[in-house]
Amino acid sequence: HGDHNQKVDYVFKVVLIGDSSVGKSQLLARFSRNEFSMDSKATIGVEFQTKTLVIDNQTVKSQIWDTAGQERYRAVTSAYYRGAVGAMLVYDMTKRQSFDHISRWLEELRGHADKNIVIMLVGNKCDLTNLRAVPIEDAKEFAQRESLFFMETSAREATNVETAFFTVLTGIYRIIS
Ligand code: GDP
Ligand code: MG
Repeated sequence: HGDHNQKVDYVFKVVLIGDSSVGKSQLLARFSRNEFSMDSKATIGVEFQTKTLVIDNQTVKSQIWDTAGQERYRAVTSAYYRGAVGAMLVYDMTKRQSFDHISRWLEELRGHADKNIVIMLVGNKCDLTNLRAVPIEDAKEFAQRESLFFMETSAREATNVETAFFTVLTGIYRIIS
């Protein structure tokens, strides 16, 4: 359909951050193309994907940035964060370590990004119920303390993926409009 002819009212840059293998690239694939792959190769080349949606009758183009395998602490460059108005801070709910690293990622993010940035804490892989290593209460408590949105998602089963992105984009819209 004539998406390419649509006038765009806003462009919002959103960055994906978090440890390697937590599912950032698959969350993006699910959100932007409704795709999922089990043998996800290291992210190569693609800097961002876009998806256009309508909020309050306004056309909002989201530009979602994915790390190109730079997930080591402090390896993500400041250019990645520049201009970002939203962030998805992703951990794998089956890997405690990826949750323990969230506070460092948040510190990095706050050090680089706009102070009004809208942040969603995302516990991905919630389809792997039997392998849960991060209690939902721990994540909720952290999110509340740090004033972040929070959601558990599954890129594999498409659980809460659209909702998570939509919540962040709507949050940004409310701030700037
Ligand atoms: P990234 O390094 O953070 O970009 O992680 P990827 O998106 O490459 O995903 C790492 C691995 O986890 C891949 O094998 C994915 O297929 C898998 N994965 C990603 N999201 C999910 C999910 O929601 N559920 C399950 N079971 N596996 C997932
Ligand atoms: Mg990746």
